[in-house]
Amino acid sequence: MSDSVVIISTGEELLSGELIDTNGVWLAGELWGLGLRPRAMLTAGDDLDGLVWAIETSASLGSFVILTGGLGPTQDDRSAQAAALWAGVAQAEHPEALAQITARFKARGLKVSKANQKQAFLPEGAEVLENRWGSAPGFRLSHKGSTLVCLPGVPVEMKRLFEAYIRPTLAGETQPSLHCLNTFGLAEARIQMMLDGLDLGGAELGFRANIPQVQVKLRFDRGVKKRIQNTVVAAVSEVLGDALFSVDGRDLAETVVAVLGERGHTISLAESCTAGMTAAWIADVPGASAVLMEAVVVYADAAKTRAVGVPEAMLREHGAVSEAVCCALADGIKARTGTTYALGITGIAGPGGGSEAKPVGTVYIAVAGPGGTHAQHLVIPGTRAQVRKRAAGAALAAVLHCAKSVQSRPEDG
Ligand code: ATP
Ligand code: MG
Repeated sequence: MSDSVVIISTGEELLSGELIDTNGVWLAGELWGLGLRPRAMLTAGDDLDGLVWAIETSASLGSFVILTGGLGPTQDDRSAQAAALWAGVAQAEHPEALAQITARFKARGLKVSKANQKQAFLPEGAEVLENRWGSAPGFRLSHKGSTLVCLPGVPVEMKRLFEAYIRPTLAGETQPSLHCLNTFGLAEARIQMMLDGLDLGGAELGFRANIPQVQVKLRFDRGVKKRIQNTVVAAVSEVLGDALFSVDGRDLAETVVAVLGERGHTISLAESCTAGMTAAWIADVPGASAVLMEAVVVYADAAKTRAVGVPEAMLREHGAVSEAVCCALADGIKARTGTTYALGITGIAGPGGGSEAKPVGTVYIAVAGPGGTHAQHLVIPGTRAQVRKRAAGAALAAVLHCAKSVQSRPEDG
């Protein structure tokens, strides 16, 4: 049934350039992981003609069409109407959908408005997909051998409905195995070169670059034995070496929280050029409170002295972007908080502020931990935003390296 899938993203904001189609990208990635490569991805606006055209075209290309957006209560939400026109059926009130919408409003002490009742007007014959995370139900509709699934546009709702209703159907058919290896510090092209000539046991190789990390994806067909998959994953891991930080799909911050959390270790941070970004990434991870103790943003020189005791003379002598100051940031916050690890980050994000000796992108990262304080000097290419993200990534990677070397040190030697 899903031998060929087509994705349709809808909404005028996508065509006017106001919004990036993250729904389509996310769906394509998930389908790839299920062993399905979308035949095409279409973007349509809010106008009925365009929507009907997109559905017809998609259904002629693939037997399974996933459409997102346009299920809301407003005038510009026309996906249900377009689906009904495509299938040549009328729209009717679905009591099931209305009951779900009503219950949702009632739980919040509200009455359902006329506009929200409209969301229960779905094509006749459609199967309602309950939306427990928002007001617009999704639906599934079949016509002439094609299945159209309409999901809400709000990304979090779209993802939840996909997980609840679509993945189980598609996964049952293919069930390939996907291994996600996350790396930091290597560009995709470099990884591709490093893996050239390696026997991948028939796995398909994919990359997902999401600054500051690159995910290497290995997808095996259903028939490939677990033993072979493990051998390939081990071989690829060895080639990736120190750049590899997780084989379970966890990103840098998730890995830091998991690794430190497992050992009962804690962290604090004094950030200058990243201004709290590193701490915010850690705090994004559920369970961060077991690990993250304190973080300060020390942007100005005076703040570095006041908050974590960096000596004024050191700032004068070496400058704020220096190894000495970076170590003092890490040591200063560690002395105050008593955490297992402490990070100091300072650098020149640009575009101004660089010099010959310290060009834009110069970043120092120091980790103070059980093995002492170690600093790294990097010159990071890219825009201001890229420099800041890569600096935060390098800082998290540095903590992981320290944690690993502490672990691999012989304990009773
Ligand atoms: P609503 O009830 O909010 O109207 P809806 O199902 O009608 O939901 P849309 O109106 O199309 O969905 O989109 C709602 C919001 O979801 C958009 O304003 C946008 O922020 C986000 N969104 C929609 N489509 C996409 C997309 N393809 N990629 C990223 N974000 C999207
Ligand atoms: Mg809408």
